[in-house]
Amino acid sequence: MRTLDEESKSVARSSWIVYVDLDAFYVACEIRERPELAGRPVIVGPPPTTGPSRGVVLSASYEARRSGVRSAQPVGLAARLCPDARWVPPDFPKYERASAEVRSVLRRHASQVLPYSIDEAALVLERGDAEGARAVAQAVQRELKEELQLPASLGVARSRVVAKIATDRAKPGGIVVVLPEAVASFLAPLPVRAVPGVGPKTEALLHRHGFDRIGDLATARSSDLVRTLGGFGRELVAIARGDPIETTESEALGPRSRSTDHTFAVDVDRWEEIEETVRALAHDLGTALDREDLRYGAVGVGFRWADFSRTQRLRTLPAAGEGWAPLAERAVRLAHELWETERAGAGRAVRTVSVRAERLSARSQRQVSLDRFAPASGGSPPFK
Ligand SMILES: [Mg+2]
Repeated sequence: MRTLDEESKSVARSSWIVYVDLDAFYVACEIRERPELAGRPVIVGPPPTTGPSRGVVLSASYEARRSGVRSAQPVGLAARLCPDARWVPPDFPKYERASAEVRSVLRRHASQVLPYSIDEAALVLERGDAEGARAVAQAVQRELKEELQLPASLGVARSRVVAKIATDRAKPGGIVVVLPEAVASFLAPLPVRAVPGVGPKTEALLHRHGFDRIGDLATARSSDLVRTLGGFGRELVAIARGDPIETTESEALGPRSRSTDHTFAVDVDRWEEIEETVRALAHDLGTALDREDLRYGAVGVGFRWADFSRTQRLRTLPAAGEGWAPLAERAVRLAHELWETERAGAGRAVRTVSVRAERLSARSQRQVSLDRFAPASGGSPPFK
């Protein structure tokens, strides 16, 4: 017998999800203002020519990616890989404004639009068939391109997780529709890493257990995976089998904390430089957590000083945070506290900066409000 909860889920299942992910979003925002950049290798990030190269790539055009440039790569490496690249310093208020324009286009097509990050959102279509959903995806893609000059990739499926995976396969500039009866065969050949929530550590664990492709998970005994991965293991099996489930309610998603760090080429004794680096690290970490639909309950910052001693500070948040902006804001505040209290008197310089997110939990679809990415009041951009 089915519970009321299962009933309501089965009602939700009759809808279609159109998942939208903008292609090289920051770069696209720059190109629409400077059309002469179109078709060229373009990198958004702190230009390596303005001083010792310490920042990271935030977004790269597909022309630059052909040379091996990737997001989060140190700018010095990117400059060597792609010497012809045109560099554009990031302008986050501009990207937030563009994101709001995108949302207003999306809202024409669905009453429910769930933003997942600055450049990703899901449209929930309450009724209609696959062809209807495909037509919506085509219209959205065309309007974003023609009205906003922003290219997007779209995935269409009955569940958000499959629609998201389809979107990744549609990149760049495509539309991939996965019919309910084709879910298992669509997923089978893909690497386990293609599932949102499977990061490098979960991937390594799955590989150790002999699961390389999503299809390998379809034949796994759910109980074995549950033993290793908890509730997320059960979900992985269900996803691989093409069972109509929604993964947003998962409790257990990989590691409980995540961190990233940067070691300066030359020890740094200027706060402005520390702040910029903390923001860049928080941006990368927050964006990565967003991609995996993870929220964080605590934020930490650590310094290793020139004499190799370490100090760190961790702050628990009153409510779980999502996205890079609140993470960056907290991290900068903590870093400033550390800088003011620990450096005082000693006049020490910083060698390595780390930013950490702890108490990670899966983000539930229900908790995502429509206006989470509306222009923030008081939220500071990751770069000044
Ligand atoms: Mg994108």
